[in-house]
Amino acid sequence: MPQSIPFLLFNPKTMSTIKSHLADVLARLPQSVRLVAVSKFHPVTALQEAYDCGQRVFGESRVQELQAKREALPKDIDWHFIGHLQQNKVKYIAPYVSLIHAVDSLRLLQEINRQALRCGRVIPCLLELHIAQEESKYGFTPEACEAMLAAGEWKELAGVEIAGLMCMASNTDDEAQIRREFHLAHELFLRYKSLYFSDKEYFKECSWGMSHDYPIAVEEGATLVRVGSYIFGERI
Ligand SMILES: *Cc1c(COP(=O)(O)O)cnc(C)c1O
Repeated sequence: MPQSIPFLLFNPKTMSTIKSHLADVLARLPQSVRLVAVSKFHPVTALQEAYDCGQRVFGESRVQELQAKREALPKDIDWHFIGHLQQNKVKYIAPYVSLIHAVDSLRLLQEINRQALRCGRVIPCLLELHIAQEESKYGFTPEACEAMLAAGEWKELAGVEIAGLMCMASNTDDEAQIRREFHLAHELFLRYKSLYFSDKEYFKECSWGMSHDYPIAVEEGATLVRVGSYIFGERI
């Protein structure tokens, strides 16, 4: 039975739908791929439902929302920050965030390092690649990413571990194009692994794939998929 939750501004999946869609996604993932349940804009009741089904990794894209949800939910959740992160907000999530997916500048990496050291932590981060055809302010071009890695300043940052790469494919129905983009991201992952991280076991994550394209992402090397609306319903 659908539950009526009148205060919500969006169209949530019913609770039983969350459960079945979560199970659907998990059934399509090989053991080696982890699901980040992207819960942005959805209420804690929806996250709790996924939690009660065993989901422990959640992705949020706004710092304030993440802080509020973390307060309200069980403490054994792994919180991933998947959105664009402003430097002045790093300090709020540094004490607990498990993985920051979308680092797109050396300066942001340096600020994460600074805040991590203040907390006595090492924070795993992914470098965001800009590969999709859409204009976007965010993400390293492959050239800029390689230049940053080659310059080597990141090696001095004891408070961060570059754990892999993240990208979004173009927002298109053209599956061949989506596949080409994920494929390129994976080739870059292998290239950077061999050039800069061959002795770093922690450089192992490929974060790509969302609700409409995660099966392709899995075929193209993803180790983390970030699925939101398929599980929790459309955000309005
Ligand atoms: C919102 C978001 C997702 C999830 O998208 P869905 O289409 O809802 O699955 C994944 N990654 C990022 C970076 C996002 O902002």
